[in-house]
Amino acid sequence: MVEFEGLIILEPAGKYTRHVLKVNKVYAVEKTPYQEIAFVEIEGFGKALVIDNFIQSTEADEHIYHELLVQPAMALHPKPEKVLIIGGGEGATLREVLKHSTVKRAVMVDIDRDVVEFSKKYLEVMHKGSFHDPRAEVVIMDGLVYVEKASERDFDVVILDLTDPYAGPAAKPLYSYEFYSKLKNIMKRDGVLVTQAGSSYFYTQEYLYVKENLSRAFKYIGEYWTWIPSFAVNVNFIIASDAYNPLELEPDEFDKRMRERGVKNVYIDGRRFKGLILVGVIYPRGFTPQ
Ligand code: SAM
Repeated sequence: MVEFEGLIILEPAGKYTRHVLKVNKVYAVEKTPYQEIAFVEIEGFGKALVIDNFIQSTEADEHIYHELLVQPAMALHPKPEKVLIIGGGEGATLREVLKHSTVKRAVMVDIDRDVVEFSKKYLEVMHKGSFHDPRAEVVIMDGLVYVEKASERDFDVVILDLTDPYAGPAAKPLYSYEFYSKLKNIMKRDGVLVTQAGSSYFYTQEYLYVKENLSRAFKYIGEYWTWIPSFAVNVNFIIASDAYNPLELEPDEFDKRMRERGVKNVYIDGRRFKGLILVGVIYPRGFTPQ
């Protein structure tokens, strides 16, 4: 339930914290069959998408989240041509994928038509017209169903940009071992997968559930995270592959692949990614994962 007390959003950022944000304008609020979505203007953060009271992305800092979600996985793959995005309603993840000149086809599968249609209308500042790129195809479907029915079984990179594993019910099954195993069936053998994985500090058990499932499904995993100001929590990402070890992606190779593909990033580069993946994951005091 999106709570507007007057014009304030009380986001349940962490299990024990609330994030108070001042809303200067409400563009649209919609109860869809899957979630409650709100397109608003937030003081200090600009245009934003809120789903079930969780900030999804804001104009001011979405570039950090979307570059970190997309660019390391795209850099890890030597020649990503076919990319599958599950979730990513705002179209910013699609925007980041289409930066790469190697990409011939990007399929974005989101369960909620309203998120996509409202984003097209209110969040041009994020999608920047990516929905209309001839290489892009948007499919409105549950990602779980898409993966089971997919006729295409040769994706180079899969990007899971879903609502948090602890948020609404729609996304939860797409963080399971069973789902990752089914995904592998539609990925090339040297495919790369990345998922946003919520917050290791504020939702530790939920994060470790995702990490455990990916560790079982893939040979290599790499964990990295950052602080997203508008989320008020640390945001974790996990990148996985059977062919390429994310910990061995050197800064020069990262930057060379970006340059060769004509990709210009605002935030991420090879050196920063190397630092992030080496810094280690943060957990609450006294929590020592096996
Ligand atoms: N940046 C956000 C974050 O870090 O929390 C996530 C971005 S995006 C808004 C999340 C998207 O996941 C939404 O558009 C939602 O409709 C979609 N989604 C949730 N469950 C899904 C499912 N089972 N299949 C496909 N899309 C799903």
